[in-house]
Amino acid sequence: MIKKSYDLLVAGSGIVGLAHAYEARKRGLSVVVIEQNARCTGASIRNFGFVTISGQGDGDTWRRAVYSAQVWRELAGLANIKILHQGTWVLCQRPEAVELAQAFLKTAMGTACTYYPKTTYKDLASLGFANTDNLRLNESLGLLYSPHEFRIESKEAIPQLANYLQNEMGVDFLWETEVLSIDDSYVLTSNDQMQAGRVVICPGSQLTGIAKRYIERHHLELCTLQMLRVRVQDGFILPGSVMTDNSLARYLGWSNLPEAKALKERIAREMPEFVKEGIHLIVVQSADGTLVVGDSHRYGSAEDVFASEQVECLILELLYKVLNITEHTITERWTGVYPSSNTYDALIEKVSPRTRVAIVSSGTGASTAFGLAKDNFDEWLANDEDFD
Ligand SMILES: Cc1cc2nc3c(=O)[nH]c(=O)nc-3n(C[C@H](O)[C@H](O)[C@H](O)COP(=O)(O)OP(=O)(O)OC[C@H]3O[C@@H](n4cnc5c(N)ncnc54)[C@H](O)[C@@H]3O)c2cc1C
Repeated sequence: MIKKSYDLLVAGSGIVGLAHAYEARKRGLSVVVIEQNARCTGASIRNFGFVTISGQGDGDTWRRAVYSAQVWRELAGLANIKILHQGTWVLCQRPEAVELAQAFLKTAMGTACTYYPKTTYKDLASLGFANTDNLRLNESLGLLYSPHEFRIESKEAIPQLANYLQNEMGVDFLWETEVLSIDDSYVLTSNDQMQAGRVVICPGSQLTGIAKRYIERHHLELCTLQMLRVRVQDGFILPGSVMTDNSLARYLGWSNLPEAKALKERIAREMPEFVKEGIHLIVVQSADGTLVVGDSHRYGSAEDVFASEQVECLILELLYKVLNITEHTITERWTGVYPSSNTYDALIEKVSPRTRVAIVSSGTGASTAFGLAKDNFDEWLANDEDFD
């Protein structure tokens, strides 16, 4: 039975809200998650389910990703969430990408990653890597391999995680209920009035709702992404998640390295139409063999509701450049939205001693949410001795 009073009320059932619920229960707080929809329909179920470490920005984001990957692995076992494939292959198609990949290996973030030059491709199978010949190896100069990544099917994993939190960890959920306002002692929802010792608002891309007045100073935009699910020839298996040169030029763990400059300039010269739409390739595979392929990035004050056929064609052009596929059928198209900041990957806004807003302001939430929630509670609980 839903109670009227909790130690923590979480607004939003995306991965950021669920991560806060999980970290709070681990610390013994009673928790209710309130979600305005009948289930999570936001970025958390629209993403690749690509839980990444390599490529995450150095510092907090990388550290949070390392922690989150560990929690995902633990929870996957406990909540019966399938890990679909492991490791990432980045095809380096330009000498500038090779230089950047090799520079990355010299950083602390490159630990356990490997660069395989073309001369070593013949050894990949004997090294235990299956299906690398499904990559268009002839088109590449070398491969950067990261063992850290794995993939979950988000549209299944997020409900599974919510069920686990509810059934095994005692988190209450209120669906189809919107958090309307918060004051020092009460939270008004579209159903009822509730009491909570603390409130954390995890609104995802709903920047004009209840969080608006608290986060205005962060000047967040919305980023809209186009995604595809494609069926390719029978029997095609990815060796792991796949990315390419322009991913190296985009993701901060790589693109912030000084060696990225030459690659970024070359990509800007050679692929202006891709750069304009923020297109870079990520390919992952589902249990039924279909590939989830993306993505593009359009920024603005509102969601871009019109998916473009031209963007779709560009994404598919990249797909054929990196995989040995002979045919494809698009089986699903969707867009997703996340809040975006030019300055930071995530923010925790301290509204009052009892209320905070937690937002991942980059495309990294599936990979970092548990770390963000951990940081939030580690600091919040330590610095609030008056809390009862
Ligand atoms: C297409 C796409 C691909 C991506 N791929 C990846 C990836 O592979 N790896 C990765 O790490 N990251 C990826 N990301 C980013 C990642 O998905 C997001 O950072 C993350 O899902 C954000 O989670 P969230 O909980 O903040 O938001 P959401 O999942 O959007 O959830 C927010 C929830 O809050 C609810 N809500 C809002 N206001 C209220 C209110 N007042 N009352 C009640 N409920 C409310 C909303 O209904 C919603 O369900 C991708 C994002 C997109 C869009």
